[in-house]
Amino acid sequence: MHVYSGGSILKLIMYGEMFEEQPGLLFKDKVYPLSIEKFDYAKSIEMILSDGLLEDISDWVEEGMPGSKPLQLKNCRIGPPVTGINKIIAVGLNYRKHAEEMGDKLPANPLLFCKASTTISGPYDDIVLPPVTWSDAVDYEVELGVIIGTVCQDVSVEDALAYVAGYTVVNDLTARDVQKSESQWFRAKSYDGFCPVGPCIITKDELDNVQDLRLTSTVNGEIRQDSNTSDMIFSVAEIISFISKGMTLMPGDLIATGTPSGIGAGFKPPKFLKQGDVVELTVENVGVHKYKVFSHEDYTDGE
Ligand code: MG
Repeated sequence: MHVYSGGSILKLIMYGEMFEEQPGLLFKDKVYPLSIEKFDYAKSIEMILSDGLLEDISDWVEEGMPGSKPLQLKNCRIGPPVTGINKIIAVGLNYRKHAEEMGDKLPANPLLFCKASTTISGPYDDIVLPPVTWSDAVDYEVELGVIIGTVCQDVSVEDALAYVAGYTVVNDLTARDVQKSESQWFRAKSYDGFCPVGPCIITKDELDNVQDLRLTSTVNGEIRQDSNTSDMIFSVAEIISFISKGMTLMPGDLIATGTPSGIGAGFKPPKFLKQGDVVELTVENVGVHKYKVFSHEDYTDGE
């Protein structure tokens, strides 16, 4: 039942030009392409997970990764480690203080919503704000991302983490004005580019204590969010178990587990993202995002 119990910590990435990314492993400062003969048919991490290849990849790592010609990380674009996945499920109001800053009551059960898969972008790609007539209040949300490793239906809280392939960092970007004006959050959460993910999926057994990871966000070096996954209202295991009762989770599915307080909307006056901002997100031992924010008008002018 366990997705993976190999000895190596694997950092799975997708690298290459946008929409042409290929699977690889991140190891120190190098990218090891997985396009060697025995894994070549797996063109995405979802395929690697669906075909249960993590054990084989781990064995190959133990052998010293024969056949793979490493590339320098600095010469590679790192894309999102998930592409064309079945679903992105996000959890709203999963940190107490964040629920307060949103002016909402604490939910009795995990509050779930979906983001469109067309929101996905890389962990260092530019953030291009929508035209201001579509939203004038785009906000950041650092979150621990969970990648499901194997088909998961009706699991207990105790067993839930065995279905996880690994963890990543997610920015659940949100058009706050749209979110406030509509009772369903789907549209406010699903503008193109509103889900930077990455840089890797880390399959680290020690991270099974996922309920003790610091997560932070900064904008232009100013700390905005600084919390710990120990403050979640519903743990990762509780979230997975809750979703799996009635909804099948598939290999590659991404769960964004909620954001702590410190979002732009929580400040008076609000501090929404604007042209020229540099945003950095960190989840301890999992990864870092860094990107520049562009207004729609400036970005299209510059092309
Ligand atoms: Mg969120």
